[in-house]
Amino acid sequence: MTLWQKLLNILLPPRCIKCGKILSEKNGLCPECFNSVNFISEPYCHKCGRPFVKEANLKFASKQYCGNCLQQKKFLFDLQRSAFIYDDVSKDLILDLKFRDKTISAEALANMLYMAGKDIWEQNPDLIIPVPIHRLRLIKRRFNQSALLVKYLSLKTNIQADYSSLTRKRNTIPQVQLSGLTRRKNLRQAFSVKYPHNIKGKKIVLIDDVETTGSTLHECAKVLRKAGAEKLYSVTLARAET
Ligand SMILES: [Zn+2]
Ligand SMILES: [Zn+2]
Repeated sequence: MTLWQKLLNILLPPRCIKCGKILSEKNGLCPECFNSVNFISEPYCHKCGRPFVKEANLKFASKQYCGNCLQQKKFLFDLQRSAFIYDDVSKDLILDLKFRDKTISAEALANMLYMAGKDIWEQNPDLIIPVPIHRLRLIKRRFNQSALLVKYLSLKTNIQADYSSLTRKRNTIPQVQLSGLTRRKNLRQAFSVKYPHNIKGKKIVLIDDVETTGSTLHECAKVLRKAGAEKLYSVTLARAET
């Protein structure tokens, strides 16, 4: 630690991003809050990242795929990972990042994305791209939470961030307000690739905060594949359990 960092720690000690308790190390969450987060750990599907039901009392071989992935032959995504389950606790963490201007928590949350995506960073991706929000919503909210996560992830992994190639053409209704089928409809043709030459032949990691039905990631992946992306990965903070 440099002298400047030591001084900064005294003046502005690191705090738990959830409860605000002062921490001895800058690691995001205090032990109590850490334990309250439902982190995804083994066993989970090594293709789509879906956690397996632990109570099932089954022995899972490592690198096992879930039933869905075993049946599929073509995949939009080569690998997908998420840091934790989307529940009341993680919802709060994400809402803090989105609406309460807790941009400080972005760095800690980006670290969680980094840990969750370790298998993906090993594939040497070329670009990290945030799921874009429409410019009208950007004006209202002032920042795109996924782009903020990408900024810190790019610093940590040394992988180039690309904020402009993938764009959102339509200002859709927020997905959380819709049910499964209408979500897909709502997103139809919502995304486009502005600079296909940046995408062609590239290994791309898409970043979003929450994956519920996977519709948003699915739509982004479709246009990126069409633009010639060679490999596609996704890392999200939270995902629904099913
Ligand atoms: Zn805490
Ligand atoms: Zn799977």
